[in-house]
Amino acid sequence: MAGHIPEEKVDEIRRSTDIVEVIGNYVDLKKQGRNHFGLCPFHGENTPSFSVSQDKQIFHCFGCGKGGNVYTFLMEIEGFSFIQALKQLAEQTGIDLPDQLSEEAPSEKSQESQAMLEAHQWLTKLYHHLLKNSKDGREAYQYLIDRGFTDETIQKYQIGYSPDSKDFVVTFLEKKGYHPQTMVKAGLLSTNDHGEYADRFRGRVIFPLRNHLGKTVAFAGRSLGQQEPKYLNSPETELFHKGRLLYNFDLARSAIRKEKTVILFEGFGDVISADQANIHHAVGTMGTSLSSMQANLLKKYAEQIIICYDGDRAGIEAAVKAAKLLKSVGCQTYVARVPDELDPDEFIQKYGGDRFKREIIDTSDTYISFMMNYLRRDYNLQVEGDRITYIEKVLQEIAGLDRAVEREHYLNEIATEFQLSVETLKEEVQRIRSQSGVKDKEPKNRYTNDTRQPTVQKKLLPAFHNAERKLIAYMLRDPYIADKVQEEIGGAFNIEDHQVIVTHLYAYYEDGNESDISQFVEMIEDASIKNLAIELAMAPVSEEVSDQEIHDYITRIRSEQWDRTDIRNLESELKKAEQQNEPIRAAEIAMEIIKRKKELKHH
Ligand SMILES: [Zn+2]
Repeated sequence: MAGHIPEEKVDEIRRSTDIVEVIGNYVDLKKQGRNHFGLCPFHGENTPSFSVSQDKQIFHCFGCGKGGNVYTFLMEIEGFSFIQALKQLAEQTGIDLPDQLSEEAPSEKSQESQAMLEAHQWLTKLYHHLLKNSKDGREAYQYLIDRGFTDETIQKYQIGYSPDSKDFVVTFLEKKGYHPQTMVKAGLLSTNDHGEYADRFRGRVIFPLRNHLGKTVAFAGRSLGQQEPKYLNSPETELFHKGRLLYNFDLARSAIRKEKTVILFEGFGDVISADQANIHHAVGTMGTSLSSMQANLLKKYAEQIIICYDGDRAGIEAAVKAAKLLKSVGCQTYVARVPDELDPDEFIQKYGGDRFKREIIDTSDTYISFMMNYLRRDYNLQVEGDRITYIEKVLQEIAGLDRAVEREHYLNEIATEFQLSVETLKEEVQRIRSQSGVKDKEPKNRYTNDTRQPTVQKKLLPAFHNAERKLIAYMLRDPYIADKVQEEIGGAFNIEDHQVIVTHLYAYYEDGNESDISQFVEMIEDASIKNLAIELAMAPVSEEVSDQEIHDYITRIRSEQWDRTDIRNLESELKKAEQQNEPIRAAEIAMEIIKRKKELKHH
């Protein structure tokens, strides 16, 4: 699997990493007995069935069956290739990998995007360096300090300065060996009709825009003086898609997990301001409306989403759109209101972070109250016609709420305000719900419905099947037991997947390896078999196992083998009898087969 990477490296990196720590960045884990438990990031659930073993350095979900070691986890959750997962962990553990490490010969296209990505990292460093060390840069630096940026923030967000020059960056990138045409594609240079290249960002404060892995993929440049436009961003490129990137997601991820809440801003300036005010679980859209891909990503990480957009009309309209989208993908959505048409950044500058937290974030509206306020602005509630239209619109929104208690709460509110009967309102909401095909959940399955049932069927397995599972669990733990089983029955397990696992396991121990499930699963290519091996390794088995118990398992497996062989023999005899036209004998054999098969099932 590891291709031409030395296996020792793969092992070394794996051993220097703690799977609990790595997974802890994504999943809120709680220690329970020997293992850590949390909500599975790979399937929706309300009760934790996702477990991580520190001793064994593996994870396994009893709900959806996913499992593996630290590499598998990163590959699954980040969509990494094996090499990418390896590189990421190598970087974190400070272990050097061979330079020429690559999966296969990179295609021309991926070579080009690699160059684009590298150039962005170089420029991030260069711009940041210039901010602190060049004469013009110092001016920009002072401008930032005057605007309330701390040194720490400037460092953390690698804020920089692009010199007011036509070709400073052109020369820099050329010297680094990048093709200027590629750099135009990357949005770092511009070109004119005469084919001359020029710096795209000039005389601006530079904010690197990082992707979800923390790599700069674009820049936003803010002018210092009168220069227009005030903000100049990188264009959309292969690396940078506004609708996908959430600013600061890489740094905020663990805080979002911890708080189970994310604050969604419109701009990166708000995110940085909030961060300085000790609000670390915030991300920003890149000035475009929230995409459903972003909404789904946020939903995966947070239980609650607080939208905090600008306080002006445009900001409110954008918040309505975002709130509706988040609601539709099933997020618990709140909307924070920033007063006086200020944007969040301005509010924090003016009143400080504490007030922002207390008065804006902590008092954010539920989706429904926000919508009620929003709709109210369009109608004159003193006029009867307007009032009725308003109530109808609000009822539409209330009908969309999942929880009956919540619906009732708001219906009471409306009933009181407009002196209407709650019953009438309820009926109306019920009508809207059945019209739009919303099914009411019976109170009974409100509780059975919450995915407490693992999706993997845990049906009662026949005794021989259980014997095989138990035996493999012990074999995974103890090479001596594996040795004994190999001598007695070799690979003759009845379940095909079990045969594959033990075959690998024998080879693994023959190579002189110790018992180490996390290392062992590296040998297995097939994901479902890998998951099964992990599942068996996680199964609780007693510390001490007697020879007798092992012997019993083996006997059970063997007798199943024989029964199966018997049946196979009988089946071929049956065929013979039929061919030789001996109907009575054939019928007798058929009866015997049915009887044997029945017995087999009851084992
Ligand atoms: Zn799962």
